[in-house]
Order: sequence, then C-alpha cells, then structure tokens
Amino acid sequence: MGLNLYILIWVCIIGLCLGSFFNVVILRSLSNESIVFPPSKCPKCNHKLFWWHNIPVISYIMLKGKCYFCQEKISIQYPIIEIITMILYGLTFVKFGISFKTIFAVIIVSCFIIMTTTDIREKLVDCNIAIGLGITALIYNYFAGGINGIISSILGLIVGTLILEVIARLGYLFTKSRAMGEADSYVAGAIGACFGLQNIIPILLYSLIASMIFILPVFFYNKFKAGDKLTCIAAILFTLSVVIYNSLVQNYFTFGFLTFTGMLLAYFITRSIKKEENAHYLPFVPALSIGVLYFIAMYF
Ligand SMILES: [Zn+2]
Repeated sequence: MGLNLYILIWVCIIGLCLGSFFNVVILRSLSNESIVFPPSKCPKCNHKLFWWHNIPVISYIMLKGKCYFCQEKISIQYPIIEIITMILYGLTFVKFGISFKTIFAVIIVSCFIIMTTTDIREKLVDCNIAIGLGITALIYNYFAGGINGIISSILGLIVGTLILEVIARLGYLFTKSRAMGEADSYVAGAIGACFGLQNIIPILLYSLIASMIFILPVFFYNKFKAGDKLTCIAAILFTLSVVIYNSLVQNYFTFGFLTFTGMLLAYFITRSIKKEENAHYLPFVPALSIGVLYFIAMYF
C-alpha cells in the first residue's frame, strides 16, 4: 500500500472524528453551552452516553438513528456532517498533498462546515469562528509570503468586510433593518484574509451565483408556503422569459417580456420583504461556503 494512500485513510478517519466534534460545537453554539462540559448526553432524556454511542456514522447505523435509552430520533445531521467532513478532508489532502496549504485549507473547510450548519438551522453564526479564521489566515499569509502575502491578506479582509457591510446597510433603503446578518460581514472579511484582495470579488460573485441556484428556490418555496403566490408566479414567469430569450427566440417582443417580468419580480420581492417583520434575510453563509469551496477546488 502506497504511503499516500495510507495517509489518506488516516486523514479520512480524522475527518470523521472531527466531524463528530463539529456536531458538538454546532449543538453547543446553538444552545450556548460550553464545548467540553457537560459530557455527551442525549438531549431528550439526558442519559449519559456509552463510549460506543459516539463512534462517527457507525453508532448512528447501529442505533438505527434512535437514542439507546429513550428511542428518541437522533438528528440525521450527525452522520451527514461526519461524512461531509471526511469527504472534504480527503479531497483537500488529495489536492494539496503533505503541505501547510493542506492544513490551512482544512481549517478553512472546518470553519465553514460549522458556520454553514448553524446558519441553515437557526440563521445564527458564531462571529468568533469567523474572527478566528481571519486571524489564522493573516498568520498563514504572513509566513506563506507569495506575491502579495500579508498586504493582500489585510486588504482582502478590509474589502470583504466593507462590501458585505454596504450591501447589508442597503437594506435600510427598503426596510427598517439590515439586508443581511452582521455575521456575513465577518465571514466575508475572513474570506478576504484567507485568499487576498485579488480573489475576494470573484469569490463573492461565485457565492452570489450559488445563492441564486441553491438559496433562492428555498426562498420562493417559503414564500409559496406562506401563501405569497404572486411572488412565486412572478419568479416562474421571469425564469420562463429568461429561457425563451436565451435559447428560443431573440426579438424585441421576447426582450420586452423579459424586462417586464424582471421588473414585476423585483416589485413583488421588495413588497414581500417590506411586509415581513423579522428574519427577512436569506442565510448567505451557505452560499459563501460554496463560493469558497469552488475557489479552493479550482484556483487555490
Ligand atoms: Zn435519549
């Protein structure tokens, strides 16, 4: 067996175990408990778990997804996070090999796994994780050097934070509050510190595209469930007109249809955002993670 394969297997096992730890971090950061104490227990019946209840993925399968004591269902989040962490760690090692870059990329990936999960579940992101990642990135770029090194890293941090902060404050033009959470600005700053000034804008653009593909459908699904049919109809009409204009007929009529449905959609979205009292912003950290992962995979 080759040495690299041997190391890869270890990297995957470490990924599984750390994924299991991230589940604890996620749970505790949502419930504001300390990370180490209390010891692992069932959140429903509070029974202390046996050691073999804590084996990543395997325990979940052996217990058939239920608590050993009270039969309460265990969240599918646990094995999913463990497997995702394992896969991403493995891929990172395959891409960068034995290097400091692997360690740095693994740290980035880990932070985004935790922040994305808490953002999806509760629209809550621990800013300390983003700040910690930012500081780690500055240190890494200081020692890694490269073309711009630490200067590019600092400028990336400033520009990343500013861009999202400006977008968030634009929300005040339409509603009485920010368009995005404060955490998004911290996260964008951390991304800037990781990848430098020259990469922060492309990564934000990838994230924007990702949010259109993955997050907007969820947004419209929630609108549909909330009974806001007009926004959904406008979204469908707009999508249709884009498809028609792009791949079927390009003339003044289809262009007019595209413009009209686009304006209609913008009107309904603005109107429905104005109506909502709270939690009106989309969770943007998942989109940022997709942007970051894409950048790491393609250009880092
Ligand atoms: Zn239980």
